[in-house]
Amino acid sequence: MTLKVAVVGSGPSGFYATEALAKKCPGCEIDIIERLPTPFGLIRGGVAPDHQSTKRVSRAFERTVARPEVHYYGNVAIGQDISLVALRDTYDAVILAIGAPLDRPLNIPGDKLAGVIGSAAFVGWYNGHPDYRDLEPDLDCQAVAILGNGNVALDIARLLVKTRGELAVTDLPDYALEAITKSRISDVYMLGRRGPAEAKFTNVELREMGQLENCVPVVDPAQLPESIEGQDCSERDLRLKQKNLATLQSFATVDPSGKHKRVHFCFFAQPKAVLGEDRVSGLRLERTRVVDGKPEGTGEVFDLACGLVIPAIGYRSARIEGVPFDERRGIIPNEDGRVAEGLYVAGWIRRGPTGVIGTNKPDGEVVADHIQGHVAAGGKPGRQGLEAALQSKGVQWVDLKGWQAIDQAEIEHARDGAPRAKLLTIDEMLAAADDDVTEAAN
Ligand SMILES: Cc1cc2nc3c(=O)[nH]c(=O)nc-3n(C[C@H](O)[C@H](O)[C@H](O)COP(=O)(O)OP(=O)(O)OC[C@H]3O[C@@H](n4cnc5c(N)ncnc54)[C@H](O)[C@@H]3O)c2cc1C
Repeated sequence: MTLKVAVVGSGPSGFYATEALAKKCPGCEIDIIERLPTPFGLIRGGVAPDHQSTKRVSRAFERTVARPEVHYYGNVAIGQDISLVALRDTYDAVILAIGAPLDRPLNIPGDKLAGVIGSAAFVGWYNGHPDYRDLEPDLDCQAVAILGNGNVALDIARLLVKTRGELAVTDLPDYALEAITKSRISDVYMLGRRGPAEAKFTNVELREMGQLENCVPVVDPAQLPESIEGQDCSERDLRLKQKNLATLQSFATVDPSGKHKRVHFCFFAQPKAVLGEDRVSGLRLERTRVVDGKPEGTGEVFDLACGLVIPAIGYRSARIEGVPFDERRGIIPNEDGRVAEGLYVAGWIRRGPTGVIGTNKPDGEVVADHIQGHVAAGGKPGRQGLEAALQSKGVQWVDLKGWQAIDQAEIEHARDGAPRAKLLTIDEMLAAADDDVTEAAN
């Protein structure tokens, strides 16, 4: 009998799990089930459009999905098109690799005002994610506040201040290219509750802020320590913090002449309220000090005028019917990736939203090891059963050929110098997949 495994989610963790399974369980059938017609999760919809070299990791995943034992089912949402309970009845094992697509709430007064846009939505908008293409953020303002001191905050800041020339050669959708380059934005404030030593930037991304065509980084030297020593962290992390400090110190000496935009690195400031009547007009902040690595309010309050507030303070997963959920951590509770008999988790849904693409790889290995050691083929229907269930519900799915047709159409319609012009609606994607879309009716 053949072992049949469903991997739900086609982001890095889904693909790493698939690759590990294909190697450890030869002869098994692996079906990747993805909510969108297009694969690759945050590689397509999160990683910044101007970081195409990072997105290239998907080439390895293209080889994985082309393996004969692997089938791709795009445009199929678990919990909507087929329940998790039904999926577990259909496969010997199910691996949930569905990520953490929701913003962590800001939870301060005014956080629901128009002009407060979470990073998941904003990043989805500039990456052409079908859920967010109609967001239409109002960029008619001079100053933007981004909350958070991680790489997502850096990505957003960088994209808001790049020139048309810098952006045109990316796969930023036309609507975002126009909105950003026609906006009045001249000053972006990156606000961190803690200090430079606690910032989560990686150094390459931080340095990039000093290399922009029409923007300078601005740092108050008084907020920078002379050195960072004796932190409670690994040697590697200490070296990263020291490098980041050196980069921030170099920013303090950048010549601003000839450049018209600024990204201000502001540390030791925690948001207390978003200000405004019908929409954002500013942000009230409290000065902090860092005690034992944690921010403490000092009682000193100040206001920052801005027309857009983008919290980039972390993500949480969405609850899925038929499986326990840890509301506090925003993940599915698990023991080394195991949730219940035949049910596993990998990636951000397992660990929470931390780390880079490669951090998800060991999750796949662990889960594949467990399936290899503990799950036997049980004569379940697998992909035949899945296809029958989808057909009975009239669900169109996109297979590998369908995705390849979408990919081709996007590449063909790219602007000059750009890698692709993303299709922006599910309907457009299904139309491009065209004959390759497997229809329920046929
Ligand atoms: C804005 C941003 C930028 C980033 N930039 C970088 C970077 O430059 N470099 C780097 O190394 N890392 C980067 N990361 C981190 C990296 O993207 C993550 O580590 C990684 O994507 C997590 O993988 P995942 O598979 O767990 O989740 P995801 O990549 O989110 O994949 C989850 C997949 O599951 C699908 N799905 C969800 N629900 C369902 C359902 N019910 N049914 C079927 N499918 C479903 C989703 O559509 C998605 O395709 C970035 C993260 C963010 C948020």
